[in-house]
Amino acid sequence: MEIWQKLLQASITRPSEVTRRFGIDPRPLEAVAERYPMRINPYYLGLIRSVGDPIWRQAIPSEEELHDAVCPVDPLNEENQSPVPNLVHRYPDRALFLVCSECAMYCRFCTRKRKVGGENMVIDQKSIDGGLDYIRSHPEIRDVILSGGDPLLLSDDRLDAILKGLRAIPTVEIIRIGSRVPVVLPQRITPALVRMLRRYHPLYLNTHFNHPDEVTETAAKACARLADVGIPLGNQSVLLRGVNDDPEVMKALMQKLLTIRVKPYYIYQADMVQGTNHFRTSVEEGLAVIQSLRGHTSGMAVPAYVIDAPGGGGKIPLLPEYLQNLGSDVVLKNYRGDLYHYDNSAAPPEEKRSVAANDHY
Ligand SMILES: *Cc1c(COP(=O)(O)O)cnc(C)c1O
Ligand code: SF4
Repeated sequence: MEIWQKLLQASITRPSEVTRRFGIDPRPLEAVAERYPMRINPYYLGLIRSVGDPIWRQAIPSEEELHDAVCPVDPLNEENQSPVPNLVHRYPDRALFLVCSECAMYCRFCTRKRKVGGENMVIDQKSIDGGLDYIRSHPEIRDVILSGGDPLLLSDDRLDAILKGLRAIPTVEIIRIGSRVPVVLPQRITPALVRMLRRYHPLYLNTHFNHPDEVTETAAKACARLADVGIPLGNQSVLLRGVNDDPEVMKALMQKLLTIRVKPYYIYQADMVQGTNHFRTSVEEGLAVIQSLRGHTSGMAVPAYVIDAPGGGGKIPLLPEYLQNLGSDVVLKNYRGDLYHYDNSAAPPEEKRSVAANDHY
């Protein structure tokens, strides 16, 4: 057995095991773990420094999960946008393909909390084949995002077979993997895994760091292995109360990610998912995060801040009000709050301008 498999096997799945270690009463948490699975492997558990810290909040069940009277079960309407089981086709040219129901850790704030790690998420050869058939018969899909659960919890051979199946479809241009494994079980990124993955370029991987304490040497090594075989790495964070709802923490995280060759891609406003209401922040706080980044640090460190629209409308970007007036006089506010004017009235008519633009190239 490989190290990552041993770590996974040694995961804590009962609150009593973890609360004993930290000296708190496990009883209130047992009911939570009945409803939503818990799994914390020894690597991620070892990142906890104290009860209630940002790592703890992401991994350890909380009573609040059972007292959420606000949020619906499937706010993004994924189930209704699934033409075949385990595939979400929301946008014209790309599809989200759920290929594994398991994760290396069950994040308490998960958007697919309704099903990951549970019995009602059935992924088998039939649903994989059904997804591949759907993608094959919809040539408009040029971008496939493998998700779950976590695709990197599949064995190398299973994942290899899925990637091979996708690459046999000529209309699939790019493949992306969405995985939290580089964060929660970086030991999974083995030389054998990356040797397999590199055969399926153009292949992208978006991971999911939420706090600077997750950027360990082990995680950095995992990301280096992926980057060294030419896989561009992006990061999708979720803005979470008590984890990273502080512009300084987010800035430190974004800057740290660049040092391990991970490009911040999205910061999500927390979805309205049942059992996660205690993690939500206001949208104003998200805008403040972007404001604290843009101009103040590398543009490379500034992701798009998005809300995944409740009801399934897709990701909608939000920006602080840099554009103060749009008209013949465009009024702009810079990162320091100073106002600037751009003369929008003297631009050449559209037709000539496009010719000029062509000349330029
Ligand atoms: C996020 C998402 C995508 C990918 O969106 P991008 O903005 O292209 O990264 C595709 N399909 C679904 C259902 C999604 O939720
Ligand atoms: S790794 Fe992703 S899918 Fe799995 S529990 Fe965490 S957020 Fe949910």
